[in-house]
Amino acid sequence: MGSFLRSASAGHEPMKLRAHHLICIIGFRGLGYSKEYVDNMTKIVVQLRSSPETLIEIAGKPDDICSPCPFLGDKGCQERGLESEEVVRNRDLAVTGRLNMVVGDRITWAEAEERIRSSISPEDLDKICQDCQWLPLGYCVAGLKRLKNLG
Ligand code: SF4
Repeated sequence: MGSFLRSASAGHEPMKLRAHHLICIIGFRGLGYSKEYVDNMTKIVVQLRSSPETLIEIAGKPDDICSPCPFLGDKGCQERGLESEEVVRNRDLAVTGRLNMVVGDRITWAEAEERIRSSISPEDLDKICQDCQWLPLGYCVAGLKRLKNLG
């Protein structure tokens, strides 16, 4: 599977993103699972922040952020073993449910931000992102508060 850069250069395909990654993007501060992972995610975040009209598609499996992840295996996410893909899918479902979206939906990044702004509260992250190693750092809560003009 290629990285986002490779797929983006192939044409005008929408950027594929698992739903929970919409939240990760908002809180991103340069941390990740490897240098390749961080470099790829940084490019994605810069593109979305500088071009909010970028089209995204909700992915039901590993996406353009997962592509270079050292935890990506044949059966999907294996961050904490074989059960991780199911954990991550449930995280995705918690986000799509709140955003009233399903896998395959295509919207601009600006619209995704608007839906997150109106549908997800900072307190929701305790439930949506439980067990995520990055949640205790507070970056994602701070990003969401900034998006909602709360902080
Ligand atoms: S940890 Fe799992 S869900 Fe997160 S980027 Fe890596 S493969 Fe994707």
